[in-house]
Amino acid sequence: MNERLLERFVKYAKVNTRSDMNSQTVPTTYSQVEFALKLAEELKEIGLEEVEYNESNGFVTATLPSNLQHKVPTIGFIAHIDTADFNAENIQPQVHTNYDGKDILLNEKLGIVISTTEFPQLANYVGKTVITTDGTTLLGADDKAGMASIVTAMEEFIQHPELPHGKIRVAFGPDEEIGRGALLFDVDHFQADFAYTLDSGVVGKFEYETFNAAQAELTIKGTSVHPGTAKDSMVNALLVAAQFATALPQEEVPEKTEGYQGFYMLSSQVGTIDEVKATYIIRDHDKETFENRKQYFAALVDQFNKTFDQPRIGLKLYDQYYNMRDIIENDLSIVELALDAYKSLGIEPDVKAFRGGTDGSIITYKGLPTPNIFTGAENLHGKYEFVSLEGMEQAAQVVIEIARMNAEK
Ligand SMILES: [Zn+2]
Repeated sequence: MNERLLERFVKYAKVNTRSDMNSQTVPTTYSQVEFALKLAEELKEIGLEEVEYNESNGFVTATLPSNLQHKVPTIGFIAHIDTADFNAENIQPQVHTNYDGKDILLNEKLGIVISTTEFPQLANYVGKTVITTDGTTLLGADDKAGMASIVTAMEEFIQHPELPHGKIRVAFGPDEEIGRGALLFDVDHFQADFAYTLDSGVVGKFEYETFNAAQAELTIKGTSVHPGTAKDSMVNALLVAAQFATALPQEEVPEKTEGYQGFYMLSSQVGTIDEVKATYIIRDHDKETFENRKQYFAALVDQFNKTFDQPRIGLKLYDQYYNMRDIIENDLSIVELALDAYKSLGIEPDVKAFRGGTDGSIITYKGLPTPNIFTGAENLHGKYEFVSLEGMEQAAQVVIEIARMNAEK
């Protein structure tokens, strides 16, 4: 399996499938369409059925029919095609076989290395096959590693009909990194009873808790007057923006919180005396605290507005995704199934509340419970990103083992 997995991963990684926040097309970049169409051909070639590319949402879906006599729940496996907002031009994956535990030279010309002092977790990969970038791009193991593991697991099932499995559905979609792809995912068409994304990090990681997430967009209107005659008439939107930022709880920011602690984060702010546009994100695992945070934020805007001659701060506040746990905990059997598969393969589960969202945070709320399985990748979204072949193989084995255990239930 290893050789095909490595070849497949490198093939996927080399294609630039970066998504684009500023594009309004679906998917946001044409390279994702081209990639999806090629992937659909590949899925047909390895023998999957009902292979479809859906133009309206950019998802490729396919079916592996059951080889059982009895009926078991249909499992979905999902990964995303796009890569994060980082250079993805001319990705040249470097394969380091039998890694010796020393600093990894990514680019001799530019003098770029992954150093063991900066990244001590490299010690876990001695003797393994480590795949890195050439120091000029990201690797895109997030989520090409997840894709390669799922496709290779499907190929393994087809080549080894003695491996028992019920019906499996797979989906590969665009624009995860900008939080849009899953919004268009068609759960009714997918027809699975539950699913897993392969989109987490280090081997062993498993996530079924995510943040609840909202975004707040402020438009602050100032009154710009010549500073020489500004007394009692100028309202400096830049200063109002600064005062607003410092009126929020100063300890509740990402850099001072961890675990289950939520936060407010100023994510962008641009403007002049005349007008400032500021964007905040609001995050919390707990639904009630999340709602309280949003109310607090809106009340602070009101409070500021009352101090002006007219309401000067406009607020657009909207939810982005929710904590999948609130739904999944109604039936934890899909969590247990995955963790049993990890243990059966000798993989120590590392289950933590994720301080972010996954495609599953959105898909779960569309009615398909979808926790998140590891891919084996590390240092995501930058030039130090890497993944081990052994980690990807373990992810593929988890897919196979989940299906086997589900078949025996
Ligand atoms: Zn990802």
